[in-house]
Order: sequence, then C-alpha cells, then structure tokens
Amino acid sequence: MIQVYRPETLAELFELLARLEGERRCLAGGTDLLVQAQDAPPAAASWLDVSAVPELRGISKEKDRVRIGSATTFADCAESPLVQGYAPALAQACGRVASPQVRNRATLGGNIAGAAPDADAVPALLSLDARVLLGSERGSRSIALGRFYPRPCRTVLRADEVILGFSVPAKKHLRGAFLRRGPRHVPGRSTLSLAVSAVLREGAFIELGIAVGAATPRPVRAPLTEALLLQRPWGAETLAAALETLQSELPFTDAPGASAAYRSHLAGVFLKRALAEIGMGTESAFGPE
Ligand SMILES: Cc1cc2nc3c(=O)[nH]c(=O)nc-3n(C[C@H](O)[C@H](O)[C@H](O)COP(=O)(O)OP(=O)(O)OC[C@H]3O[C@@H](n4cnc5c(N)ncnc54)[C@H](O)[C@@H]3O)c2cc1C
Repeated sequence: MIQVYRPETLAELFELLARLEGERRCLAGGTDLLVQAQDAPPAAASWLDVSAVPELRGISKEKDRVRIGSATTFADCAESPLVQGYAPALAQACGRVASPQVRNRATLGGNIAGAAPDADAVPALLSLDARVLLGSERGSRSIALGRFYPRPCRTVLRADEVILGFSVPAKKHLRGAFLRRGPRHVPGRSTLSLAVSAVLREGAFIELGIAVGAATPRPVRAPLTEALLLQRPWGAETLAAALETLQSELPFTDAPGASAAYRSHLAGVFLKRALAEIGMGTESAFGPE
C-alpha cells in the first residue's frame, strides 16, 4: 500500500523523512513516480508530496548565485528572467522538454533525483557548474552536481534527505545553448543532448562549460574539449580539433536505434550548432555537416 503525506513546512517534511520507515519517496510533479508505480507498484511505500512546502519553490538571486527551488516546474524555470539571464542553457532545456502539460507539472528536483541518463536538465546544469542543495533533520549540505551521481543511475541522496534546490553562479554576459534529439516513437526520451554555457570576450572563450547527456552512462562534462577551446585562438582548425576531441573523449554507448558511432557523430553536429548559436559560428569556420 502507498501512504501519501502532504507536509506544509520544511521541518514537517524533514521529520517525516526521518521518522518513517521503509521506502520513502518525495512526490513532486509525479510525472516519473506515478508512471513507475503504474509499471511496478511498490508493495509498501510512503510518498511525501512536497508541493506545499514553500521553501522548495521559487527562483531568487542571492549575492553572486541564482538559487532555484527543487519543486520549481520546467515551465516556471523556462519563463524566469533570472534563469534566462544567468542560466540560458537551462532556460532553453526547460522550454524544450516534453509537452506544455508535462512542463507545467514536472519539476527540476524530480528530473535530477530520478538519475536517468537522459534527464534533460542535467547537462544544462552541469554546463553551468551547478551545485545541489540537500537538506535533512541533520542539517544541510551542498555538492557539485558533477559529484551527485557517483555511478550511473545512482545519486548520493540519503534516505532521510530531500533536494532543496540548485544554485548556479550569477555570471554576467553568459551565453548558452541546449540541443537535444530523441526517437520520434518514444516521447520524452533523448538520444543525445548537449549544453554549452560560455562567457566570450573579443571572439574568444573566457569561460566555457560543455556537457553531454543521454549518450553516455551518466551525463558528463567534456573537459578536454573545453580546455582546447579555451586555449586555442578561434578558427576552423580549432573547431575541427574540438569536434575530434569531443568525439574521442566521451564514452558514447549503444542504444536501440542509436549506435555509439551515431551518437558520437551527433555530438559533433550539436557542438557546431551550439557554438554557432552562442555567436562562435562563421561561414568559413563551419564546413558541411
Ligand atoms: C510524457 C512524458 C514526457 C517526458 N518528457 C521528458 C523530456 O523531454 N525530458 C526529460 O528530461 N524528462 C521527461 N519526462 C520525465 C519527467 O517528466 C521528468 O524527469 C521530470 O522532471 C520529473 O519531475 P517530477 O516533478 O514529475 O518528479 P516525480 O515524478 O514527482 O519524482 C521523480 C523522482 O524524483 C524524486 N524527487 C522528486 N522531488 C524530489 C526532491 N525535492 N528531493 C528528492 N527527491 C525528489 C522522487 O522521489 C522520484 O524518485 C517525461 C515524462 C513524461 C510522462
């Protein structure tokens, strides 16, 4: 049997997570959890509906970081001027996933906690150097998103912990792009997603984050490609070297209908497009795809 609780404060949520025994799951938008429970109903579980806890909602700027509550929906994130300004790759990702109906319910916290390799918000947040804020009765902690998934499909979330939210540095003049492709017959699944977040000055990269999702066992940054683009002067040769590096540095995997070779090729195509979208494309630098 599934027992559902609806705490109205963070303290109440923490207390329930600490006190209840057996399987405890937060219920946010329910777009993953309800589907999973339909496919494989749990014998016994406690679901804690987090939608009434005000501390988990909203987007704010705090000093030099932007904080996004875990129960913020994709729709609210995509429309937020703060997210559009300081995390443009995330605004694009949130605006492109699923359908408007799903975007109005599905939350960022549920997307990240689910640990699906193709969760679309993850590469966008990785490219932004996001931190995950976790809380429990024992206190709170913050961890780099890159360290939140110790193994594929696993998180460091403890049984009594909840994701409070995410924070990203509030960098001025940040540009971003997010691209994804998925199989037409399976809505919501990505074959590959790629996010770029960058600060440019006089035609060169000052800061750069590139992350890939869906096509590797867990979403990852591409540090060798980033270093190459940061170090070399921009031009056709640098672009060609960056594409080659991206395709060789990541462990692309095979999936039904999308071989590792196809995903590697697609990553190159998406990187070219993403760099063009943020203003690094030139006719001469971009050969045919
Ligand atoms: C038709 C359809 C289309 C979809 N399309 C896409 C798509 O294009 N891209 C994509 O990435 N995803 C897609 N999804 C998957 C899903 O919508 C997302 O993963 C969504 O972000 C999950 O959020 P939620 O609020 O619904 O999570 P829930 O279903 O409520 O929860 C998901 C998991 O996260 C945990 N959780 C939720 N909130 C917290 C928290 N604050 N702290 C700790 N754990 C928490 C839950 O316990 C559960 O394990 C789609 C789903 C459907 C049904």
